[in-house]
Amino acid sequence: MLPSPPTAKRLQLTLAFDSPPKPEEVFAQVFRRLGFKYPVNTFTIAFHPYANLRNTIRLRNQGIQARLSDVAASAPAIVLEALAEVLLASLFRRKPSREARECYMAWTFDPQVRERVDANRRTRGFKLMRPPQGQYYNLEEIFHRLNRDHFQGRLRLPRLGWSAEASLTLLGHHDSAHGTITISRMLDSSSVPLDVVEYLVYHEMLHIVYPVQRRGHRRVIHTREFQEAERRFPNYRPVQQTLKSIVKRSHRQEKRLVRPNRRRVRHVPAAFSH
Ligand SMILES: [Zn+2]
Repeated sequence: MLPSPPTAKRLQLTLAFDSPPKPEEVFAQVFRRLGFKYPVNTFTIAFHPYANLRNTIRLRNQGIQARLSDVAASAPAIVLEALAEVLLASLFRRKPSREARECYMAWTFDPQVRERVDANRRTRGFKLMRPPQGQYYNLEEIFHRLNRDHFQGRLRLPRLGWSAEASLTLLGHHDSAHGTITISRMLDSSSVPLDVVEYLVYHEMLHIVYPVQRRGHRRVIHTREFQEAERRFPNYRPVQQTLKSIVKRSHRQEKRLVRPNRRRVRHVPAAFSH
């Protein structure tokens, strides 16, 4: 079928879409508008297939280098401008304007954007799996021990590994379609107690035993039976508390990266916890 001739309105949209400003130009313009007194010669903006909506910026040899989530590559120019302001302001210890912050945040809440970020997180962060032997913990060993102690050894070993990205928002994931269990690499650390990692693996193993149920249009992921079984994990409450404080602490550490004297800023909106 031949495409119908574009109406005036459509033509306008196409034109606007065909010539979006280059991200380098947007950053340079915003930099000038904010009136920073720092000599900057070059702007290098790259889009990176992060698993999460993440943007980083740094200053090196009088050049500004930003790495933006590739989801932002298709963001409207005004959002890119807002993001440039948020990043440049944090780099130079300034507060971005409320308009810029709100404009960028509104975009991150857009259902289409969230959908793309979620899809990326699933396919990028969690299918690119690292082997079960981490730096500190071996997930396969943990699986076999839990299988013996809590499941009468009945569960088949899934594809099991650490996530490629050290995610704070997705700590563990069971993918029934691919038969995989992935645990966030963030937890493969000497500062994370063994029973916290065990608890996460146990939780994902329960997903093998208690599949998702449908109630009308709703999908129930953590059914009552699931939750009862989860509470049988040894020291369930204290372990959960420890896990919570680890996540809190790591969030604080991420925030600390915003300290401008390190000249490197990561901007991860908190909107994407599941
Ligand atoms: Zn779960």
